Amino acid sequence: MLEHTLDSAVPGKDLRRRIGYLSRRLRTSGTDLKPAEPRFVDFDMIRLPNGSVVGRKKVIVMSGGCSVPTCTMCPFTNFNNYGINGGTSRESLLNQVRRTLTRTEGEPAYEVLSLYNDGSFFAPREIPRAVQVEIARLVAVSGVKRLVVESLPQFVTEPVLAPFVEALDGVRLEIGIGLQSADELVRETLVNTRISQRSFERALSVMAGLGVDPKIYLMIKPPFLSEGEAVTDVVASVDYLTGLGVRGMTLCPTRVSRHTVAWELWQTGQYMPPNLWTVVEAVRRVHERLAVRVACVNLRGTDFESVFPDACPNCADDVVDALMRFGESGDPADLPADCSCRPPLEVTPLDHEAIAARAAQQLNVLERAGV
Ligand code: SF4
Ligand SMILES: [Zn+2]
Repeated sequence: MLEHTLDSAVPGKDLRRRIGYLSRRLRTSGTDLKPAEPRFVDFDMIRLPNGSVVGRKKVIVMSGGCSVPTCTMCPFTNFNNYGINGGTSRESLLNQVRRTLTRTEGEPAYEVLSLYNDGSFFAPREIPRAVQVEIARLVAVSGVKRLVVESLPQFVTEPVLAPFVEALDGVRLEIGIGLQSADELVRETLVNTRISQRSFERALSVMAGLGVDPKIYLMIKPPFLSEGEAVTDVVASVDYLTGLGVRGMTLCPTRVSRHTVAWELWQTGQYMPPNLWTVVEAVRRVHERLAVRVACVNLRGTDFESVFPDACPNCADDVVDALMRFGESGDPADLPADCSCRPPLEVTPLDHEAIAARAAQQLNVLERAGV
């Protein structure tokens, strides 16, 4: 369990504000209204908790973006109508969902729908309550058996979730929550996500009471952390979640994208995404200690502007393939063996004071660079 108390014991509340301010300031609003159609649609096969493999449709609707866009690595506001007045009307959201659910000729079969909105599905400023419930009604009559959405936990409350689940009428719901780290300094200051331990645990219990499955995202190497600290952070976070009875977890190695704090840190030579061998080490330790299955995303992308976790040209592709295979099988024999490029890794404890001091110093460098 987390041992820090909320807020009071956190070194650098001021640091949190500084980072949050910078993170928001770097975001682009753009001026051109993007069309009211999903910005991403994809089909694949996924393995359900019961072991069966089923088709999935994954859609990211065009939205007005996250209403709490403070996270230091999150690039989503680059891709939607964030900050543009009139960027999302309730009609546009509903129409996008209606069109999404209309089966077209030649469309692959699917029974899982992942419906993402670049933010929190249950935030009323992003998707009004009535629209949330209307979406549930549309999904209920669509033949979809499982719906996946994402949300910050503070929006996942009983009065919001109960009518939604009722309107889903038997369609199983999964909510993805980007906790990122169980460590309060890492989560609330360095990643700068607005998730308190209290609201997270409360959301989990509301979900358990309504038969909703949690899927928790953890970052590998948030901005401001070293490779060795990142491994400690992941292991402790998985430990914490396992203690709460959470089984569905996804590890997300950080990628670096424009208009984020992570990007500016990278530009000034103060941050690199995790080395792929650090990802392997984190996965190995989590697996050995806790026997949980971990999937890896974010390792490859079609987005050429971002910087992804890497190793050397001889091994990088093989390591990514092996991690993907492991994500499917959960079998540590699938993890890659070694490569001469693998840098020494000293797994170090999280020294909060030292980390906060380093982060403040790195922000000073950004300031001096005119960021
Ligand atoms: S990670 Fe989620 S909560 Fe954080 S800025 Fe991005 S969309 Fe918003
Ligand atoms: Zn290598």
